[in-house]
Order: sequence, then C-alpha cells, then structure tokens
Amino acid sequence: MKKLPDINILPVHELFLPVLKQKVLFTPYTIEQERNILTAADSKDIQAIINNYKKLIGECFTEPIDFTKLSAMEFVYMAVNLRCKSKGEVLEIETKCDKCKKPIDMKINIEDKVIIENQEKVKEICKIDDDLSFEVVPVRMEFLSALENIDSEPDLLVASAIYSINKVFWKEEIYDAFTPEELREKIKLTRPICMKIVKSINDLLKMKLVVEIKCLDKECGYKEDFVIRDFLKYLT
Ligand SMILES: [Zn+2]
Repeated sequence: MKKLPDINILPVHELFLPVLKQKVLFTPYTIEQERNILTAADSKDIQAIINNYKKLIGECFTEPIDFTKLSAMEFVYMAVNLRCKSKGEVLEIETKCDKCKKPIDMKINIEDKVIIENQEKVKEICKIDDDLSFEVVPVRMEFLSALENIDSEPDLLVASAIYSINKVFWKEEIYDAFTPEELREKIKLTRPICMKIVKSINDLLKMKLVVEIKCLDKECGYKEDFVIRDFLKYLT
C-alpha cells in the first residue's frame, strides 16, 4: 500500500501592486477557505469580510503583506484578483433602478472592468501654508474599517485626511511617525484643510470598476454607469 502524498496543483499567479510598486505572487484559495468569506458576507458585516480577506491574503500570497502600510485600493485589488482566480471573474450585483426602484440583478465579469487611473502618481505634497504641508498617499486600508462608523460628511472628510497623510512638514521639520488618532488630536483640522487634502488625494492613483446598469423593466429602460467603489461587499 502506498501512502497518499500531498497533491498541490494550485497555479501561481502574479500581481503588480501599483502603489507599493511591488510584484507579488499568490495561489488561489480552496473551497474550504472560501466558506469563511461566505459566512461573513451573509452577515453583511464589512469588518468580518475585511478580516477574512486579510486572513486569505496572508495564506495565499507568498510574501508577507504589511497591512498597516497597505493602501485600501491595493487591499481591494488583491481581494478582487484572489476572488477572480479562485472562484471566477463573474460577480453578482444586486442594486435598485434609480428611476423606477425595481430591483436589478446582474452578473458582470470584473476582470476586464477594473480601471486604474493616474498610475504614476502615488504621492503628492499638499501645501496648506508657509509653515504646514503634508505628503499624502492613497488612503490606507484602515479607512475601510473606519468607514463603518462614519455617518456624516465632516467625519468622512476627516477620516479621508488622516488615513492619507504620510508625512507632516511643520516649520522646517519633517514628521513621519504618528497614528491617525494622533493626527486628529494634534492638528486642528478645519474644513478648508481637509478639502485641500481630499483634492490632493483625488489627483492620485485610483481604481474603479465601471459597470453599465440597465433596468430590465421594458417601460423604464433606465441606464447608468455604476461605479462600484465599495467592491468588498460584492466580493463573496
Ligand atoms: Zn427602472
């Protein structure tokens, strides 16, 4: 009798992370691992989905990933690619017609609809006045978790700012070791300051998934381009 060896025919895929400018390798997740994401998605708990994808990324990518430095965009990009190569490229989208409010269920192929803009721009200096400037980078992935508890526009502005500031230039000194909470405490963030930061972030590299949504009701026939920024809740 021969003992069964370990059998692994998982293909290795390559992915380029555009902010870190780093090539990473990963293998697909198994059905066993898939089960955890499904359970999280059933509960519609974004934090649980994030945690499960963190775990999967840790298990499937060959290089260790430092999540504290990772941009939200790259985290979602890794999750999208992992999902495509493991379960398939087709995502099921459930939404509502903007005009007649009837439900729209669609299946879309995500692989060819992910668009990356401003590819080369991964940081920018945002000057506030002669004494104060910031270096901003694409918003970090902690922002995705913070989003859950944000229900007002001022909170969203502040969160966008503190999760994007990478360095603070204040009166000839450069500061680069701080937490988002420290930024919030130590810098008097006014609306104009936050708006300037958000404007700088908008010029940076970003990822979009653009899908044409068509209402199935013949009388209505409404069409729109649906930009899914919040990929995660569909990534099951
Ligand atoms: Zn409609």
